[in-house]
Amino acid sequence: MRNLFTPWRYGYLSGGRKVKSCIFCTARDSRHDASRLVVHRGRHNFVILNRFPYNNGHLMIVPYAHRSELWEGTPAQQSEMMTLASRCARVLKKAYRPDGLNLGMNLGAAAGAGVRGHFHLHLVPRWEGDTNFMTVVGRTRVIPESLEVTYRKISSKLVARSARPKAGKSARRRS
Ligand SMILES: [Zn+2]
Repeated sequence: MRNLFTPWRYGYLSGGRKVKSCIFCTARDSRHDASRLVVHRGRHNFVILNRFPYNNGHLMIVPYAHRSELWEGTPAQQSEMMTLASRCARVLKKAYRPDGLNLGMNLGAAAGAGVRGHFHLHLVPRWEGDTNFMTVVGRTRVIPESLEVTYRKISSKLVARSARPKAGKSARRRS
């Protein structure tokens, strides 16, 4: 099987140099969720769209805390990460009707991590034949939906589902 997650798409981050700032920490601290593509904020993690998606709906679940190792997360953070992955999977299934979903992490440079200092979980909708398509066209893919449309689709559904049990309480939490 070919690489599912595509580290070359993160080349823009470092240009071969050491990354000075972390894009996830920048998004975490931003007050402009839409422009940063943050579709949802939980207590310990937030959900952000991949700016260079592998497929429509490609998103990531990211802890607020800047940690490079999976075991540095707290049980509460890890538990919420999986709960959010489950909710996002449901939203993606309904919104995009993919044939399947990939859920995975790239931990460390050899595993293809684009942002090495801040671990995160990818969730990628998959369709029959998309790998073959990728093989044919090399590293060029057609992403027919704009990120703005994806943002509206996913954020509205996550907000709608989370607003009920936590009405009146802020779900925002920093680091
Ligand atoms: Zn970070």
